[in-house]
Amino acid sequence: MKYVSTRMKPGDRAPRLTFSECLTQGLAPDGGLYVPEALPSFSENDIASFAKLPTLADFSAAVLKPFLAESTLAAHLDSICHEAMNFEVPLRFLSNDPSTAILELFHGPTAAFKDVGARFLASCQAAQSTPSAHSPTTVIVATSGDTGGAVAAAFSGRPGFQVVILYPKGKISARQEKQLTNWGPTVRAFAVHGSFDDCQRLVKSALSDPSLSQKYRFISANSISIGRLLPQMCYHAKASVDFQTKTSHRPTLIVPTGNLGNAVAALWAKRVGFPIGRVVLATNANRTLIDYFENGRYEIRPAIPTLANAMDVSAPSNFERLQHLYPDLHFLKQDVTVVSVTDDEIREVIRADARDCNQTWCPHTATAVVAKRKTQTEHAILCATAHPAKFETIVEPLIGKTIEVPPRLASTLRGESHSQDLPADYAAFVSAL
Ligand SMILES: *Cc1c(COP(=O)(O)O)cnc(C)c1O
Repeated sequence: MKYVSTRMKPGDRAPRLTFSECLTQGLAPDGGLYVPEALPSFSENDIASFAKLPTLADFSAAVLKPFLAESTLAAHLDSICHEAMNFEVPLRFLSNDPSTAILELFHGPTAAFKDVGARFLASCQAAQSTPSAHSPTTVIVATSGDTGGAVAAAFSGRPGFQVVILYPKGKISARQEKQLTNWGPTVRAFAVHGSFDDCQRLVKSALSDPSLSQKYRFISANSISIGRLLPQMCYHAKASVDFQTKTSHRPTLIVPTGNLGNAVAALWAKRVGFPIGRVVLATNANRTLIDYFENGRYEIRPAIPTLANAMDVSAPSNFERLQHLYPDLHFLKQDVTVVSVTDDEIREVIRADARDCNQTWCPHTATAVVAKRKTQTEHAILCATAHPAKFETIVEPLIGKTIEVPPRLASTLRGESHSQDLPADYAAFVSAL
């Protein structure tokens, strides 16, 4: 399979890259994002044979085989999947509503779904690089809260890699910040005076700055990296198959959405043939997607801070991939609904569900729960994108009790924190580096 830029025009002779070449490149030279030139199409027989595979890792290796074809990483795919997906991703049906299942994506080391993509990317990068202590590869990442921790956890301790993280100062939870800043000297965290969009802009500038890029041997670990998106496709795919086997219905997927990484992965899984009905994008008070669906205009406004902070995005970095998959808004609307959820609604559903059905949601997952009710969706898979213990300062006062911290999460919260303040300015970033 070859990958092309989202900005390639018909007839262009832009470069066509393999999967592993995309990992090294990050952004396409024209500023676009890499997407598969043509998506494979799996038959019912293919899917039935995938369904027999015992683990998510085996399932993913089978699904991703065509995506890595022609890549130097193809021979490593099986071991990459097993190394990356070494934790449970359970699909749990609700006891009070058996037509709804929760896809628990938070059992990895940093307790958010980002662990799946970050670990897969790290395994790929490690498999294709020769470690060099003199000129390490620098993984650069902007984070709205959870990506940075997942990337740091996935790369720290791997010889030949260092990590640079930019996060919006004061806009993430204390536990999220801990996970960005306590890894020791190979992971440097910068607290940017600005929004997540500012962090993302600085990273994009750094990646497209040839001299800096060469000096630090940058690779991108944001969701613009195809190495994060592809594995995310697999859990949506497997969950849809398992859901259909159990209920004989095609599920609607409800995805808490910020940068559209998880959402595009879900839509790719649908497009290649997995039994996914509609995809509902649950968003917070940031209205870029809502407005686009309403009037076809993509207008960026300053990001608004909300309780679902990992979704505080005004310029979703995968928007170009969404548009590439659905160039026509009319067809996009046939498959996808977008729902906006306020902070009050997030608080209310966290409070009510803890009281009435003994469920504790993180603020992001709560947007999916609200979106399901607003759209009156039956037969749904809700993506639970983070463990509520990561957002205890929001959730605990609402539910009136302490949330137990899972052991893997606890172990990423130890150690001393180090971060460096930074104005939202490219020159300042370069000199701080
Ligand atoms: C990153 C994140 C999201 C948003 O996912 P995107 O792929 O950026 O749309 C939702 N919830 C949590 C907990 C996250 O960390």
